[in-house]
Amino acid sequence: MTKAAAVIERFEQFAPQTIAEKGDPVGLQLGSLTTEIKKMMITLDVRPEVVAEAVKNKVNFIFAHHPAMFHPIKSFDLAVPQNQMYAELLKHQITVYGAHTNLDNANGGMNDWLASALNLQQTSALLPKRELPLQQLVVYVPQVAANSVRQALSAAGAGTIGEYQGCSYSTDGTGRFLPGEKTHPAIGQPLVASSVTEEKIEVIIRPNQAAKVIKALLAAHPYEEPVYYLTAIHGLNEKYGMGRVGNLPQEMTIKELAVFCKRVFNLSGVRVVAPDLHRLVKRVAILGGSGGQFYAAAVKAGADIYLTGDLSYHTAHDIYASQLAAIDLGHHVESICKPQLTKLFNTWKQENNWSFPIIQSKISTDPFQFF
Ligand SMILES: [Zn+2]
Repeated sequence: MTKAAAVIERFEQFAPQTIAEKGDPVGLQLGSLTTEIKKMMITLDVRPEVVAEAVKNKVNFIFAHHPAMFHPIKSFDLAVPQNQMYAELLKHQITVYGAHTNLDNANGGMNDWLASALNLQQTSALLPKRELPLQQLVVYVPQVAANSVRQALSAAGAGTIGEYQGCSYSTDGTGRFLPGEKTHPAIGQPLVASSVTEEKIEVIIRPNQAAKVIKALLAAHPYEEPVYYLTAIHGLNEKYGMGRVGNLPQEMTIKELAVFCKRVFNLSGVRVVAPDLHRLVKRVAILGGSGGQFYAAAVKAGADIYLTGDLSYHTAHDIYASQLAAIDLGHHVESICKPQLTKLFNTWKQENNWSFPIIQSKISTDPFQFF
């Protein structure tokens, strides 16, 4: 059986909580991370109908993009539908975890999924914000065990640089030691000085990976007292940020882009803010969710048009006046996370031999209909 904590530990290597926006209630929402997962369900929102779906499918772990508990409750009055929903979750012992702006900001996360659905090229973060340092792990291993240690480090996620995995650098040398009387050395004997051909292995570790990598290192290293150290690499930070800006492969009119968005994201309708629908656009900024307040960043990034959700009347006026154009895709466009997260979790499931099934919620939680 796999505990929710192990699954979350893997997810947070990809989208650490530290890259979430300040005050965003990400993480465990309800239940316990010591829960052994029987079945996991991925959803955009946690709504009463989604909870009913989870109960029906015997799910005991819900992974949601939007935190279930945005507003703290003041009293547990079961006449309030939201509280009734929490009661249902508790009654059926369903644990809920929310990955919100850490998923938005993750490299290869929500905003990259949205940008790549539109084929945006040469994308960068619209609002670059967080930087976390990369670290270098150096470990000395007897040559006979170097292969298996390198493999263990790689399996734990060390040495991932961009699309390259298992990156490491080695130099050969000689290790010397004198084991004490009470030792059990893997090589040599107590009270006899040894010198061993060793490999010095260097690997890069991304933010949030160190604990898991060191655990894997200690499990694979044959020595009683393995020698290793971690150092921060100055000037080599992993950068995270909200939204993406990039270029369409070719220019299109705003009207064509609106139609393209509807098709790609399977939307019933979009709202367009543009003085001229036939204006050509190429540089596109996109930010899933409620991004109205960030339109100035799209202007600054040289975008021709800004795609986001939940635009208000007055913000739309401001955008119109600024000569930027915008398409409101609706907040529910973020349901792109359901298939994408399912794909990611299934990859990690294979890598870690998790045996529980993973399903996607089939319910549309979009509260709006178009006529
Ligand atoms: Zn959202």
